[in-house]
Amino acid sequence: MDTLVFCKKCEKLNRVPNEKALSDLAICGNCKSELDFHHGIQEVNDLGLQKIIRSSSVPVIVDFWAEWCGPCKAFAPTFKLAAKEFLGKTTFLKVNTELNPHSSSTFQIRSIPTLIIFKNGKEIERQSGALPLQALKSLVQKYS
Ligand SMILES: [Zn+2]
Repeated sequence: MDTLVFCKKCEKLNRVPNEKALSDLAICGNCKSELDFHHGIQEVNDLGLQKIIRSSSVPVIVDFWAEWCGPCKAFAPTFKLAAKEFLGKTTFLKVNTELNPHSSSTFQIRSIPTLIIFKNGKEIERQSGALPLQALKSLVQKYS
């Protein structure tokens, strides 16, 4: 299994195999720059979010967060644990709402953290507020 990863430098999508995702630095096959993909989670910008949602054949879960948000930071390790468990089955993205106001307004993010799950290009569920690990896993499991 692999994960669709957006390159912020050249804006191409890469397929990163599971075994590479957790060990090596992921490198863009096109421009050779380092992909912002760590522990099975990628940090995307507005364009990356659109491209992945449109192209992914597996469900996509997005964590909308910001640097100043305490609950978002507290939730990050939980999101990381789930990403590792569902690597290749569900794509885990993070969107910094301050750096990507377009995505925040497109998806009408009113509070953070907000989690949205997309399948076949469409939003299918959203949860506002941080979830405990078990609840997050159940949520992801439902669609993967
Ligand atoms: Zn690239």
